[in-house]
Amino acid sequence: MVRAIYPGSFDPVTLGHIDIIKRSASIVDELVVGVLVNKGKHPLFSMPERYEMVCDAVKGMKNVKVETFDGMTVDFAKKHNASIIIRGLRAITDYENEMQIAQTNRSIDSDIETMFLITDLQYAYLSSTTVKEIASYGKDVSASVTPLVARKLHEKFNEVHAPKPTDPKIRLC
Ligand code: ADP
Repeated sequence: MVRAIYPGSFDPVTLGHIDIIKRSASIVDELVVGVLVNKGKHPLFSMPERYEMVCDAVKGMKNVKVETFDGMTVDFAKKHNASIIIRGLRAITDYENEMQIAQTNRSIDSDIETMFLITDLQYAYLSSTTVKEIASYGKDVSASVTPLVARKLHEKFNEVHAPKPTDPKIRLC
């Protein structure tokens, strides 16, 4: 039984992440997607929102589970008896950061291997950050995310930009 975890912030999950999930789930027996609380970053979406969007994205994938986690990735892997950490690699810019994370995890527990899956070319320039930026200008992101994520992004930025009755710019005089 080969188990793997796929940790990330998923703020929000994109079709690039989903491609990595599908491909790694076809290699291992069980995959646990770990949605990281990540106190260091200031995510756009709350933990329950990010969790809900990942769950929706993987529905119907029989050997894929989703869980939230806080703390060290290796501890999350051990909790699930997972021997593999999945990460995705896009451009060379991912490489240095991913190597550092993988080496750190390896220095903590050398029994757990990091396995890198190279991005599908169509998702090579896709990131949660670019999706959020495009959506923040009201542009269509439906080619990069699930319909649920597209809707949530739309709601989020409408919430942020919706003029409030007290906004001085909309006073009539
Ligand atoms: P982080 O874990 O750094 O907060 P993410 O949650 O965005 O970042 O991503 C989780 C993992 O998925 C990382 O290994 C990242 O490189 C990978 N990833 C993100 N976007 C893509 C993509 N478009 N194609 C392949 N892998 C990706």
